Amino acid sequence: MTDLADLTISEASRGLDDGRFSARELLEAVLRRATVTEAQLHGYLTIDREGAFAAADAADRRRAAGGRRGPLDGIPIALKDNLCTRGVETTCASQILAGYVPPYDATVVARLREAGAVAVGKTNLDEFAMGSSTENSAYGPTRNPWDPERVPGGSSGGSAAVVAVGSAFAALGSDTGGSIRQPAALCGIVGMKPTYGLVSRYGLVAFASSLDQIGPLARTVEDAATVLAAVAGWDPHDATSHPEEPPAFHRSLERGVEGLRIGVVAELMGAGIDPEVLAETRAAVDRLAAAGAEVVEVGLPSVDYALSAYYLIAPAECSSNLARFDGVRYGLRVEGGTAEEMMARTRAEGFGAEVIRRILLGTYALSAGYYEAFYGQAQKVRTLIRRDFAAAYETVDVLVSPTSPTTAFRLGERASDPLAMYYSDVCTIPSNLAGDPAISVPIGLDSRGLPIGLQIMAPALGEEVLFQVAAEVERGAGFAARPRLASSEVMEP
Ligand code: GLN
Repeated sequence: MTDLADLTISEASRGLDDGRFSARELLEAVLRRATVTEAQLHGYLTIDREGAFAAADAADRRRAAGGRRGPLDGIPIALKDNLCTRGVETTCASQILAGYVPPYDATVVARLREAGAVAVGKTNLDEFAMGSSTENSAYGPTRNPWDPERVPGGSSGGSAAVVAVGSAFAALGSDTGGSIRQPAALCGIVGMKPTYGLVSRYGLVAFASSLDQIGPLARTVEDAATVLAAVAGWDPHDATSHPEEPPAFHRSLERGVEGLRIGVVAELMGAGIDPEVLAETRAAVDRLAAAGAEVVEVGLPSVDYALSAYYLIAPAECSSNLARFDGVRYGLRVEGGTAEEMMARTRAEGFGAEVIRRILLGTYALSAGYYEAFYGQAQKVRTLIRRDFAAAYETVDVLVSPTSPTTAFRLGERASDPLAMYYSDVCTIPSNLAGDPAISVPIGLDSRGLPIGLQIMAPALGEEVLFQVAAEVERGAGFAARPRLASSEVMEP
């Protein structure tokens, strides 16, 4: 019999509806899986057993009384540890927030709870979501479930790893420059960044507010759509959230791609991209053409400057957002003679090296005399990138590229070279700068047995066509491989 932890959300939800098993049994299966995998994986920072069992039992009682809330009722889901959870420690994988217990739930967390989902726990990340490998966590790295010597990607590496091994059915992550899509690609699962404003950011600890979006990581495209549907939509607590009804992305999955025009981004299909990644990308594009799509090559000339613009805008916003962590209100406080000394010591001891690097870069880029040359210039580049995308979407419905230039790299390999690390997001950052939705879908393995993801991008609020194409990519790839850490040899010692 298949282990319950290996079911998709739609299978698990049907099983619950048919009374084949209970939400408590689903949760037990997921926690059993975590017991086996966590010692090596370290995907979770906190597992909230008590809260999770209470939620699972409540879901079982609702179903018994005929009051099921929807497809997520009773489904165990993990939350990135930069999402505020009432009564459950929220650290952002930083020392500076050690011991911080939020008095409120992020809107996405509240919506998942209303949908009946069972919050299993909080997943590991790069400190304050700054990184591409989860090595910047103050609590130690997460490992890649396909090869524990390698990174799971980041910053939502914990979320991606636990979904890949089955210690959660899905997870929420945040994506500022690729932090959902890149770890999804490196762990062989689906990861989706919605249109900026589709999902409320209220209760997401801010990194770069004009780029941050919350989105789902799941094992199938359909499951990702199910989770997104539960959390999307206007929220009075987030002034940047869209007031319109969310797009009907859940209904486009079976439509196929006949008649759609798909653009392959020329700038992301050459130098700097691993040949095996390129070959699998081309094969996936060929399958889309065989399924009836018209495939053309499209140029986005400004994306060559996306990385440079991002590494001015994101640090500038982070230097402002992280000013609130001063030892006065939250988490760590290192005492000093004066208030100023206390704040300086708290920040010096509480933040890790990468976070300090970003604050310094951002403060510099915003300082008088340099503001126009750095931050102002980067904003102009951002406008050019938006225009490139807008022009492309006049001729194509969606764009595709690799999600990550390489498959999972070794722990430590890029840790001492920030630029090599930053390059990990070269394909994903443009969509954040444009504010557009994008998704990564697993399409195959490289010769080392490591997963490769295809990125699909769509215009703002184009989630319907995005999921339509993603579902076809998934059907075409027939990706069924499972990571080593979730296989039966590890499961049954
Ligand atoms: N890796 C990128 C960075 O470090 C993106 C991170 C993210 O999306 N949160 O800024």
